[in-house]
Amino acid sequence: MSKQYSDRNLGVKILFISVGVIFVVRLLVLQIFSSEYRELADMQALRHRTQYPARGLVYDRNGKLLVYNEIVYDLMVIPRMVAGLDTAYFCQQVGISREDFIAQMDKAKKYSHYAPSLFMKQVTKAEYARWQNQLYRFKGFYVQQRTLRIYEKPIAAHVLGYVGEVNDNDLQRDSYYQRGDYIGRSGLEKSYEELLRGRKGVKVMQVDVHNREIGSYQDGKFDSLPVEGSNLYTTLDADLQEYAEKIMANKRGCVVAIEPATGEVLALVSAPAYDPNLLVGNARGANYKKLSNDIAKPLFNRALQAQYPPGSIFKVAQAMTALNIGAVTPSTGFPCDKSVIGCHNHPAARSVQEAIKMSCNPYFYFTYKRVIQQGHEKNIYKDSQYGLTMWRDYMLRFGFGQRLDIDLPNVSSGMIPDTAYYNRWYGKDRWAFSTIYSNSIGQGEVLVVPLQMANLACIVANRGYYITPHLVRFHGPDSTRNDAFCQRHETGIRKDYFDIAVHGMYDVVHAPGGTGHRADVPGIDVCGKTGTAENKGADHSVFVSFAPMDNPRIAVAVYVENAAGGGGTWAAPISGLLIEKYLKGEVQRKDVERQYMEAAPCQKLPLAHKVKNKKKRR
Ligand SMILES: [Zn+2]
Repeated sequence: MSKQYSDRNLGVKILFISVGVIFVVRLLVLQIFSSEYRELADMQALRHRTQYPARGLVYDRNGKLLVYNEIVYDLMVIPRMVAGLDTAYFCQQVGISREDFIAQMDKAKKYSHYAPSLFMKQVTKAEYARWQNQLYRFKGFYVQQRTLRIYEKPIAAHVLGYVGEVNDNDLQRDSYYQRGDYIGRSGLEKSYEELLRGRKGVKVMQVDVHNREIGSYQDGKFDSLPVEGSNLYTTLDADLQEYAEKIMANKRGCVVAIEPATGEVLALVSAPAYDPNLLVGNARGANYKKLSNDIAKPLFNRALQAQYPPGSIFKVAQAMTALNIGAVTPSTGFPCDKSVIGCHNHPAARSVQEAIKMSCNPYFYFTYKRVIQQGHEKNIYKDSQYGLTMWRDYMLRFGFGQRLDIDLPNVSSGMIPDTAYYNRWYGKDRWAFSTIYSNSIGQGEVLVVPLQMANLACIVANRGYYITPHLVRFHGPDSTRNDAFCQRHETGIRKDYFDIAVHGMYDVVHAPGGTGHRADVPGIDVCGKTGTAENKGADHSVFVSFAPMDNPRIAVAVYVENAAGGGGTWAAPISGLLIEKYLKGEVQRKDVERQYMEAAPCQKLPLAHKVKNKKKRR
């Protein structure tokens, strides 16, 4: 009996403990998971609609619209809420196959059953209008308004860039983005992404059991308004840009035109170019693939990324450096001694100005020798190290050997070798002027970017300084400017030495024996310098110029790849046309214009975009 009683007692105890445990567990479950339950409950009644702001517009320097937005619709799905869907009817209405439906649905479910996923992107206004009034039948689906970039004219692709969908890296790096968002991928779209994108808002909507939005939740208490993206007011001259692209259309190369006094980029062309509208919308992926597989590399921005040997144009910077450190005087003459380095036939240069005009190689050989071996040290190797260090410092002041801080991504730095470079290559105290003399005429180890060459033209035009080349004048409703784009970078070289360079470059275009006569524009004092960038195939034709001579308004660098005949043949006349177009508004020399627009230098083979032979040494 007593045993029976104690057994019953134990049973009661177990029952009590069990009930207690169940309560505790239940309580815990509610405590821990209640927020999820609430969220789930919310999901069924509320919809958080992201309010996408309009991306900032882009204008040219004269207020011409370059980039704007067009409204499109993204069809979104919340898998958990899809119910009673007539799949066949749905597919027929929105115009997709059953396979696509399954694939998209699986993708959405994999991401989340409860959170909205992008089901179909960039539905045009017209397409959406076709099934808009059927949407109430598709429980779990809704549309979200988005905008697409539209490029007013098919120009300036390399400047404007493009936007693309965010990837996992973007999502990790910046919590602002959600899957399906767009982000600037190149050009100004990338550099100014944070200004252009604005700020998303959210609208909480109540949804009834028929998937209809029945109004704002709690009078918009939890809503936030989107903030529109800032507009960019660029420095580009759309007319000049378009004209330059027309001239370069059947060529490979690039054009960079800058207003010297301000550093404002007027035109920046990389040829071949492409229509920026190709990289918008649903065809973007296929077009991108096509462009990136193109042997002519249209996505490659030669103006900022290509690195070429500077050729003879470099002599201008050499002359200024040699004058400023006292290695030569304005009236120093050197014989055209072809035994030291090759040259063309011309009378000996009796001054720096003549040397620039005639582009005499031996002259710059002797000049560079005096810069590198100044006699500062007794030991020739130590002396060369001293000279090279000083020379390099001057080259950096010209903006060479470093990335210019332009407001575009992916800029190359070019190459100005230092002592460490030559020590690595030849060994310490085992190199001197005789080893590195080809730098004197813009060959050897030196590499420059076309942008740097246009900047060199600005420095001469300004008689000694430059302002960082840039593409955005100001942005946003308050016309905000970047202070860095107002600062002068001084070379520290005397202005009267630059006057010599200016006159030398004037002679190149105007004096007998000058190599750039084809850049001449009637009525405008064009100053320029021809160059040839050595290449494994046919050399590249290069011309750097500015105009007018006094108070210059435009500086231009033109590269035409694999165009035999040096800078004078192709790049000089093209520069002349660009200058005429910009300064006169219209090119009057129609015959010259036609000739260079139609003509294409023979370009059959894939071309080298980077000069690799010397660079490998690094
Ligand atoms: Zn010579």
